Amino acid sequence: MCGIIGVIHSSEAAEEIFLGLQNLQHRGQDGGGIVTLEENHGFHQHRGTGLLEIAFPPENFKRLQGPIGIGHTRYATTGKKELALLQPFVDEQAGLAIAHNGNILNYHSLRQVVQGQDPDALPSGCDSELVLWELGKLLKRFGYTVEGLTQSIKILSETLVGSYSIVGIVKDVGLVAFRDPHGLRPLIMGRRLDKHGKTMTAFASESAALEFVGYSELENVAPGEVVIITFSGEVIRQQYTQPNIRHCMFEWVYFARVESQLDNLSVYQARFNLGIELAKEVKNSGVTPDIIVPVPETSRIAAIAMAESMGVPFREVLIKNRYVNRTFILESQSARQEAIRRKLYPVASELKDKKVLIVDDSIVRGNTSIKIVELIRKCGAKEIYLASTCPPIQFPCYYGIDFPDRDELLAGKYDHDSLLDVIGVDALIYQSLQGLQGALQSESLCTACLTGNYPTDITEGSAFSKQRVLEREVTV
Ligand code: SF4
Repeated sequence: MCGIIGVIHSSEAAEEIFLGLQNLQHRGQDGGGIVTLEENHGFHQHRGTGLLEIAFPPENFKRLQGPIGIGHTRYATTGKKELALLQPFVDEQAGLAIAHNGNILNYHSLRQVVQGQDPDALPSGCDSELVLWELGKLLKRFGYTVEGLTQSIKILSETLVGSYSIVGIVKDVGLVAFRDPHGLRPLIMGRRLDKHGKTMTAFASESAALEFVGYSELENVAPGEVVIITFSGEVIRQQYTQPNIRHCMFEWVYFARVESQLDNLSVYQARFNLGIELAKEVKNSGVTPDIIVPVPETSRIAAIAMAESMGVPFREVLIKNRYVNRTFILESQSARQEAIRRKLYPVASELKDKKVLIVDDSIVRGNTSIKIVELIRKCGAKEIYLASTCPPIQFPCYYGIDFPDRDELLAGKYDHDSLLDVIGVDALIYQSLQGLQGALQSESLCTACLTGNYPTDITEGSAFSKQRVLEREVTV
């Protein structure tokens, strides 16, 4: 998962992008980059590893001049964690820069074709570089005009299999944003007026990033839509292909910021609804907890909704050390386990002799759940139940969320009874698929990791994932 942003017609494009990216930091912490385009001076770029505060020393902004720019914060789902892999990618010759959120599943076969023609092409091993290369090639063929760009994106989309929300700078045209036909990853557009009354436009992965820098009039880029904001201020919106909507349910369940609104549904509202739906499952299970305890931070809203709905006291008794990285997006299993140990502390006095219902957003590899149950047992809890706002995650995700192998997924490996033993709980209650769809007010969701029904061809999915694991093993 990554965060992307693009801005045009701003006198402070780089600064706005940086502030926006900071509000997308949760989507990737490996590194970040900003590219701007300045008339008569070409592209300016800075990329750095680590958190944005570290990656962007203040002096770097001086050279990031120009009224148009794009930015990216990286979470490495493909390729090694190196500076060369940080986005945005720029092709000076093609007059093109892009920032991409998603995964291109047929990357390796497309790369082979490209390297058959030019062995030195696509050196980074990153799928986004392939998108840049293909789009640059198409633009040369169809021309650097609005028509040429939309035609290029239409043809590009016929080649790519996977998930992609993309912002780009195209010389002689302007800022472009487009989203795959399934709308797997979010992409939002916003506008605001500068002090002279001129309209500025921005795109970002989440509404929270746009709102933070003052953009309003927010709208979604639709699945299968391309939006172009030209240098002269024209706005062109075109459905380049038929949509087949499958928004990633995990954006609402876990990934996005709670203050964001994605595809017309507030993340807060979605999580609250998930709690109401999960409370019904808990009631049906027959367990009668004394307290409801959220696993911070993501599940808090659902736990509050459950406490209200069930009339059971809500107790925030797992205290988070906020200076430890979000465990899910740390790279190795050992790094994740160590981070959990350092991340959460229980308030023992509130747990002793209680029947405790722990609420977590999801159970992926189970690291967090197992560790938390262990901690709470040590505090003398009488019984421990675990409820997940997400149904069992049993299948790999090939679209950018880091649970690619079935044998890493707890619910993929064990049946329900075995899971009770493995996690060490007295009851385990999952959200139902219907509950999830009800909470997210949509059946047009990707639920592939729950059901195994993938919205795209996944023939190359496991090869893509295996390659990714191999590449990581080299660096971790
Ligand atoms: S497989 Fe799961 S995590 Fe991946 S895009 Fe689909 S819903 Fe999201």
